[in-house]
Amino acid sequence: MPEKILVTAALPYANGPLHLGHLAGAYIPADVYVRYQKLKGSDVIFICGSDEHGVPITIRADREKVPPQEVVDRYHFMMKESFRRLGVQFDNYSRTSLPLHHKISQDFFLNLHNKGFIREQEVKQYCCVICKRFLPDRYIEGECPHCHRRGARGDQCESCGRWLEPEQLISPRCKVCGSSPELRTTKHWYFKLSQFQKKLEDWQDSKPAWKSNVREFSSGWFKEGLTDRPITRDIDWGIRVPLPGSEGKVLYVWFDAPIGYISSSVEWAQNLGTPERWRDYWCDPKTRLIHFIGKDNIVFHAIVWPAMLMAHGEFILPDDIPANEFLTIEGNKLSTSRNWAVWADEYLEVFPPDPLRYYLAANAPENKDADFAWKEFQTRNNSELADVLGNLINRSLSFVEKHFAGKVPPIREASVHDRAILAQVADATARIGKSLDQFQVRRAVGDLMDLARAGNKYFNDAAPWSSVKTDRDGCAATLNTTIQLQAALAVLMEPFLPFTSERLWTMLNAPGSHRDRRWDDIPNFRLPENHLLGKREILFHKIEDPVIEAQIQKLHAANK
Ligand SMILES: [Zn+2]
Ligand SMILES: [Zn+2]
Repeated sequence: MPEKILVTAALPYANGPLHLGHLAGAYIPADVYVRYQKLKGSDVIFICGSDEHGVPITIRADREKVPPQEVVDRYHFMMKESFRRLGVQFDNYSRTSLPLHHKISQDFFLNLHNKGFIREQEVKQYCCVICKRFLPDRYIEGECPHCHRRGARGDQCESCGRWLEPEQLISPRCKVCGSSPELRTTKHWYFKLSQFQKKLEDWQDSKPAWKSNVREFSSGWFKEGLTDRPITRDIDWGIRVPLPGSEGKVLYVWFDAPIGYISSSVEWAQNLGTPERWRDYWCDPKTRLIHFIGKDNIVFHAIVWPAMLMAHGEFILPDDIPANEFLTIEGNKLSTSRNWAVWADEYLEVFPPDPLRYYLAANAPENKDADFAWKEFQTRNNSELADVLGNLINRSLSFVEKHFAGKVPPIREASVHDRAILAQVADATARIGKSLDQFQVRRAVGDLMDLARAGNKYFNDAAPWSSVKTDRDGCAATLNTTIQLQAALAVLMEPFLPFTSERLWTMLNAPGSHRDRRWDDIPNFRLPENHLLGKREILFHKIEDPVIEAQIQKLHAANK
């Protein structure tokens, strides 16, 4: 039986386009992992969707004077298109504004409520008498009590970075009308997270292989002691609390967003015409549930969401949570508010997807923050993709065209060197697979490039341009071996460079789809003697200096 794996990537927030920080943190590593598991023959589904609720969306909608639905529609479709063009291949990409998701979230809430895991609490909260509403944290601004800058938000001061409570702000103002709000009594619903501390600690103790950032972050929270968390807010945009006396309250976005993994799976099953099939994953303890996230999401995925699942009781718990650190841009912290970011759709206007996938995999922020620098991107493209991988393929195939009529030359007797490079294929296949099983994309893609380097060295040492004149059988064996190496590379590169992988498979005129190959079978696959190769093309183009300079200038010009 193939292993059942349910992979999710953090739902991106639909109030702006995708940027490289998102891609490096969750989506590229998750997609690499899923493509690898599909080649291994695992029964894997890859689930995601847009997170479309919450205050940042209503604030943007207020500012633009449009309904929130218009904001989320714009960014949902934009992100979906960027994912498609980047080859991030979800089995389902849903959105949390769907009625299906509202219903599933309300049912989830009621399940917890009926079991006594949700309680009401009266709280003092700022209320704007002019706007006639209670104000969520981000609708209040004032002077920061720490750094005394103006314009600090009710949840955080962006100047000094400290987290705040609205009551700490000096001279608070309603962000909409500018008047001074009053503290009044209201009620909210709280999830009894404190009851789950022991269970969560025991559960995490059974996961010694988890990444240290997730374990350390969680143990910090456990040490402080988990407290009950409010799960409702006072806005109009979101999922109604399904209880009497809850007018004007919606579920807090952190509560409904992870439930989106379930509702997106339900939508996937419905679209297939097998509406119950999602249960084969979510309700089967043999399924491994893996959440790919950035480190800002650790608390929700390692603590709050598993506690929600424990409280609910019908679903499996996460098996692993490979959380990545942050991506900085040209040495500085990525900031969307200051527009210090590289946006996916703008990247795709100029460059093909694979060089970015390659760079973000080779430079993944796995164990510490990593930096995206345009010059480094250019170097990786030119001196690795073009000069190593592309060059090996191009010069060997053009040699076969010229000297062997574009057909796979016969191999009469393999030399020690021929056998050695094919043994390296077997070795690399095993090592890349092992790294990917452990979510080490960076090491895996390094091993892929090392194999291409070894291939170039093998080709240089064999010097077919001279053996073609003196030892035609030996030359044929070299070229045959180099082509088998390329067939292996075409499949090995699929998780990282899926577009190039497909083009190389076509250039080799290899049978079927490279996606139907099996990972463990990569070292054994052979294109037969006399097999006619396809049309050769250049797989990677070098990026010239002025093109990169223009990107660097654009980044600085857009920075606020
Ligand atoms: Zn401050
Ligand atoms: Zn107001």
